[in-house]
Amino acid sequence: MKNVSDFFGCKVFDDRVMKATLSAKVYQSLRKTIDEGAKLDISVANAVAAAMKDWAVDHGATHYTHWFQPLTGVTAEKHDSFISPSPDGGVIMEFSGRELIKGEPDASSFPSGGLRATFEARGYTAWDPTSYAFIKGNTLCIPTAFCSYGGEALDKKTPLLRSMEALNRQAIRILHLFGNDDVKCVRTSVGPEQEYFLITEEMYEQRRDLRFAGRTLFGARPPKGQEMDDHYFGVIKPRVAAYMEELNEELWKLGILAKTEHNEVAPAQHELAPIYTTTNIATDHNQLTMEIMQKVASKHGLVCLLHEKPFAGVNGSGKHNNWSLTADGGVNLLSPGETPYENAQFLLFLCAVIKAVDDYQDLLRLSVATAGNDHRLGANEAPPAVISIFLGEELNAVLEAIEKDTPYAGTEKTQMKLGVDVLPKFNRDTTDRNRTSPFAFTGNKFEFRMLGSSNSIACANIMLNSAVAESLKIYADRLENAENFEDVLHEMIRKTIKDHKRVIFNGNGYDDTWIKEAVEKRGLLNYRTTPDCMPHLLDEKNVRMLTSHKVFSEAELKSRCEIMLENYCKTVRIEANTMIDMAKTEIAPAVSAYVLELANTAAAKKAVDDSVSRSYETELVKKLVRLEDQIVARTDELEEAVMKLQDAEDVAAESYMIRDAVLGKMGELRAACDEAEMITAKKYWPFPTYGDLLFGVK
Ligand code: ADP
Ligand code: MG
Repeated sequence: MKNVSDFFGCKVFDDRVMKATLSAKVYQSLRKTIDEGAKLDISVANAVAAAMKDWAVDHGATHYTHWFQPLTGVTAEKHDSFISPSPDGGVIMEFSGRELIKGEPDASSFPSGGLRATFEARGYTAWDPTSYAFIKGNTLCIPTAFCSYGGEALDKKTPLLRSMEALNRQAIRILHLFGNDDVKCVRTSVGPEQEYFLITEEMYEQRRDLRFAGRTLFGARPPKGQEMDDHYFGVIKPRVAAYMEELNEELWKLGILAKTEHNEVAPAQHELAPIYTTTNIATDHNQLTMEIMQKVASKHGLVCLLHEKPFAGVNGSGKHNNWSLTADGGVNLLSPGETPYENAQFLLFLCAVIKAVDDYQDLLRLSVATAGNDHRLGANEAPPAVISIFLGEELNAVLEAIEKDTPYAGTEKTQMKLGVDVLPKFNRDTTDRNRTSPFAFTGNKFEFRMLGSSNSIACANIMLNSAVAESLKIYADRLENAENFEDVLHEMIRKTIKDHKRVIFNGNGYDDTWIKEAVEKRGLLNYRTTPDCMPHLLDEKNVRMLTSHKVFSEAELKSRCEIMLENYCKTVRIEANTMIDMAKTEIAPAVSAYVLELANTAAAKKAVDDSVSRSYETELVKKLVRLEDQIVARTDELEEAVMKLQDAEDVAAESYMIRDAVLGKMGELRAACDEAEMITAKKYWPFPTYGDLLFGVK
């Protein structure tokens, strides 16, 4: 048996290594940078770089890279070796503080949404010392932010760090108002639960839709799907267990706290969850986790599908973003306290989140919007595209009592009108198991459940942090000037509940009647698709909020909106073209071949004995020929719809054309092909079916 504690983090230049390899002075100075954001001296950087290089070379590294997260959604790296020629004809291994702090990758091919004219190809990467460097293969990877020369962010890390800083600033103001004067730092923590599918590599290779689009674009329902509920938490198959074991080991070596693993609802679907950590590290770790998941799968002859909806009619994959606020690395601010006074502070933070979610529903929705995730949200799968908050019975009762000035049943105190001294003491509600809410309070954290499985968690957390920072700012502005702190506090909490209770919903979020109520009675937003929500990034109220907290500049927002819509259009265009290709070169010929066989059989029967029934063959031939005609016609129509996209004036217009025309044509073509699949002899069908894919891993 391997002892995990012996190798956990062995590929990470973490605090233990820093302590062991750096002088006390350098170590302290670096810690100050990590913990408090103090500026780093170049002499310190040089010392850190030298220690990092020695450590990395000892661990087999020959190269280093600035590891960053451009807006493609995946990570990027450009490797440089440590070698430097020495006069005697040999080489020495070198790495300077300058190389550690700053890199200059040719950035012209990364999306910038017009921020950086292509002739200004240079962008630069800047070391993020709060996220530890690590070794992957033979390369030392240094987590970095990626910016243009003008200083605009071209990545997901930069605005994430800015949003954490914005929240930190405002949360500290609130904590000081409550007398917690020595709190230095408030950080958000995240534990992202990651869902995925595993299928065999052999079958994957036979499906162009999976290879090009990451999801199946055709496929009739298998006789057995997820209806038996026998997969969720079921016994893990040996091949999957072996995969999970190696995956865990690789993640642990990288210092990633992989904790739980289990089968999910759909066949072939699984989940991995790490223990939560600081948001920017959790984000880096989640990116790495997705990469390692795919790498390890290929060693086991498997493919890990991270797409939000790899199979129609089967549950899709999401990512649950468990989020909380922690002061000075210890106290969870979303944990109800022991005393009423602590509870007043807790309630204020709770209200800040409720207000943030209601005021910025649109930002939260669009932070998870991709072509892939549109198949989950707003389709017939939950969570819905409408954002609401689940609080649980007890908290809900507390809020109601405060709003209405009525006695709260859970306490003997009957008057709740005034100051914090009469706020009730209540227990954390640990019984929550509402799985249908897009945004659920789960005792001491919120679980944002709308993220797609392939999304970077950065975007959702940027919006969440910023929106909560804004609520806290409004509260702090008011409280700092309050004559009577307790009165104003109480009134503010009450007003928040009154103004924003429409976003609280404790019922079943999967229910159609809820969507009706949410939209018609409560006026909540229901943006079903990416083209519906993305342009709202540039709504005045959103631009004002995000720029005022210095999370984004206006130019950055414009560029991001453009890039996200571009991603959407490109994704669907690739899917449509793949469908056209598969329909023409695989599906139509397969149906045709089967028709020929049937016709031959019918003719042979007739030749033998004119009176033999040929109705089986002739009926089937008729049906298939009709379907074949449909397939050909619908392929043409889809092709035409895709051609028309060239006429779109801009990317927003193109996205609307996709939403209104192309997706429908794709659905129609698929329907004809899936029908043909169900009546075509299996040996003719050109690629593995849903049944093969979903039940293929033993
Ligand atoms: P579930 O019941 O939703 O399956 P768990 O209770 O196992 O989930 O927790 C899910 C995730 O929430 C884990 O990654 C866990 O580390 C994380 N988590 C727990 N407490 C916090 C917290 N205070 N802040 C952020 N994440 C947390
Ligand atoms: Mg969960």
